[in-house]
Amino acid sequence: MQIDYQNIIEKAYRQTQPLKDPGKLADYIPELANVDPGQFGVHYTNLDGADFGMGDNQVRFSIQSIAKVLSLTLAYKMVGEKIWERIDVEPSGTKFDSLLLLEINNGIPRNPFINAGAMVVCDILVSHLINARMEFLDFVRDLSDLPDLAYSDTIADSEKAHGHRNVALCNFIKSLGNIQNKPAEVLDFYFDMCSLEMNCRELSRTFSFLANGGVKVSDQKEIISTNMSKRINALMLTCGFYDESGEFAFKVGLPGKSGVGGGIVALYPRHFTIAAWSPRLNPKGNSFKGMKFLEEFTNHSELTIF
Ligand code: GLU
Repeated sequence: MQIDYQNIIEKAYRQTQPLKDPGKLADYIPELANVDPGQFGVHYTNLDGADFGMGDNQVRFSIQSIAKVLSLTLAYKMVGEKIWERIDVEPSGTKFDSLLLLEINNGIPRNPFINAGAMVVCDILVSHLINARMEFLDFVRDLSDLPDLAYSDTIADSEKAHGHRNVALCNFIKSLGNIQNKPAEVLDFYFDMCSLEMNCRELSRTFSFLANGGVKVSDQKEIISTNMSKRINALMLTCGFYDESGEFAFKVGLPGKSGVGGGIVALYPRHFTIAAWSPRLNPKGNSFKGMKFLEEFTNHSELTIF
C-alpha cells in the first residue's frame, strides 16, 4: 500500500502531543506509577519492512495486558480450537478485573483478554509446558527477534505484592473448576507475563505476524494459521480495549490491544502494525494520547478496516 505514512504520522503526532492530558497513571500497581508520565512515542511498521517512529518510540515500557495476545497465541497454537471450551469470545461489558460474570458463567471467562480469561490461558500454558515462564519468554523472544527481551522483576514483584483482586479472581475460577493448576503457580506466571517490556518499535514489529496472516515477517515462519490469526484479530477488535472496545472500533477502526502501562498496538491485516505509548490512562484504562493519536492517524490516512 502506497501512502505517505511518514507525513500522516507526523501530522497526527503533532496534533496529539500538545493536548492537555487529563489521564492518570495506573498506580494500583505501585511500580507503574514510577514512570515519567509525559512520555509519548509512536511507531509504524509496514509489512514490506518500511517503518517510521516519533517521540519516545525507543523507550521500553511495561506492556502489561498487551502480552495477553501473545500468551493466547502460544496456547491456541498448542491446544487448537479446544481452547474455546474454557474461554468464551464475547465482550464482557465489565471492568477487566471484574469477578461479576464468572459465577453466572460457571467459571468460563467472557474472553481471553480480561484478566480471568488471561489466567485460564496461563493455566493452559502451565499445564502444557515444563517451564511456562521460560518457554513463553523464548517464544516471544523468537517472535520479536529480540534475544534480550526480559520480564521486569520489579514490576512483577510490585504486582505480586498488591494484586489481591487477581489472587481472588484466580482462586474463584479454581473453585468453579476452570483452573487446573495451583492458583499461586498460575498467578506467578500471569504476573511475570504482564511484566514484559518493549518499546513502540519492538511492539509494532512483534505484532506484524498478526497483520501477516499468522506468518512471522522476518523469516516467513508460520506461527499460527491464517484462520487462527483472523480469530485473534477479531478478538482484539471486539475485546481489546476493556470496556471501551466499541469506542476504539468506532473512533479508530482497527483491531488492537491496550495495556495499563499505557501502550496500544493496532494493525491493519495485510498492511501494517502501529504502536503508541503514553502512560496516562483515560477513565476506562486506555492511554489517553495513544487513543487520540490512533484516531487522528486513521482519520488522516483513511486506513481502517471499515
Ligand atoms: N497485570 C495487569 C493486571 O492484571 C494487567 C492489566 C492490563 O494491562 O489490562 O491488573
